Amino acid sequence: MKLLITMLALLLISGTVLAAGGVVKEPNGTAPDRYVYYPGTEELGEDEVRIVAAGTGMPSARRSQAATCFLVELGDGQKFLFDIGSGSHANLQSLMIPSDFLTKIFLTHLHTDHWADLSSLWAGGWTAGRTVPLEVWGPSGAREDMGTKYAVERLLEAFNWDYMTRAVTISPTPGAINVHEFDYKGLNKVVYQEGGVTIRSWPTIHAGDGPISYSLEWNDFKIVIGGDSAPNKWYVNYAKGADLAIHEAWMTAKTMIDKYGQPPQLAARINLTFHSSAQAFGKIMSTVKPRHAVAYHFFNDEDTRYEVYDGIRATYDGPLSMADDMMVWNITRDKITERMAVSADDAWDVPGPRKAPAPDRTRKSEYTQFTIDGKFDTSDVDEPWLKAFMKKHGLTEDDLKAGQ
Ligand SMILES: [Zn+2]
Ligand SMILES: [Zn+2]
Repeated sequence: MKLLITMLALLLISGTVLAAGGVVKEPNGTAPDRYVYYPGTEELGEDEVRIVAAGTGMPSARRSQAATCFLVELGDGQKFLFDIGSGSHANLQSLMIPSDFLTKIFLTHLHTDHWADLSSLWAGGWTAGRTVPLEVWGPSGAREDMGTKYAVERLLEAFNWDYMTRAVTISPTPGAINVHEFDYKGLNKVVYQEGGVTIRSWPTIHAGDGPISYSLEWNDFKIVIGGDSAPNKWYVNYAKGADLAIHEAWMTAKTMIDKYGQPPQLAARINLTFHSSAQAFGKIMSTVKPRHAVAYHFFNDEDTRYEVYDGIRATYDGPLSMADDMMVWNITRDKITERMAVSADDAWDVPGPRKAPAPDRTRKSEYTQFTIDGKFDTSDVDEPWLKAFMKKHGLTEDDLKAGQ
């Protein structure tokens, strides 16, 4: 119900009016267009880009809105993740995309609301049959200990127990993360170029040195993913020509007082010094003039979104989406369509076409005799099903010992 209300409200306020979907021709007929996106059911056109907002919210967790994550899907099958904030992995999972197709992650900065679910994608995708390591791109910092490489290496160190215990039973290969750190000071510099895709970065002004924005160019389409930032001249320069320009629009100072209990001076300062007010977002978009602008990083609630919307509309009258989780944009040459995804809460991992690499049989068990001695004998009840199971699948005793 909430989804429906959100959809209707967003359709009304976003300025994106979808074309009427035809008529139902007979009493038992089907509606030709349901105005929503059902993941896994729609083939992308060769000359088309689809972007899914898998997180649009805040560091404070809430069930209805995860933190930042945008999935960019290209018509030739390539997929790129921009940020993977806390809670967003569950939204990604609801799209039922095999984890082997979600291996390229570009981080804008290292606040948890932009990368905390990397650990979830790392371990979850590994157990779900990913066959290759994750590849993570991200900015350096003003010091070595403030950069992406430092952060990801420490993440793997922190999850050492997870890694060691999984690497015994399944292949260790997909449990690796390769980091591609680049200079945060690069001005519209290429940080990735492969398969007809060029990804560039430029700095933002947000809480300290390091955060950046990205643009992705492919097939004459340009998608811009703005990292958290106070208004900055680089975005205004380098986002020009964007088909879809994503940028934060912070909640109003009034909301920060009402909902967060912030002192007024802090509420104002946040809007000005490391985030962008709605009015500033509008001015940025009026200058960039993208085909379509996307505002995010605010709790998209009935009682707070209109303040943000009014602020934006005071300074920008172009095409606009007030982003919410599971909002989807399809971009073709002649139109940009905004819809909400209707996805499964109970999605399972969907296997991809590649076979998982074999376990490393030379690895030793992480059990010591102390824990092994704690085993309660249930072989009398497990043997009957196990015998039948092994016969059905042609397993040997040796197969069961792999990695033990
Ligand atoms: Zn941030
Ligand atoms: Zn943020």
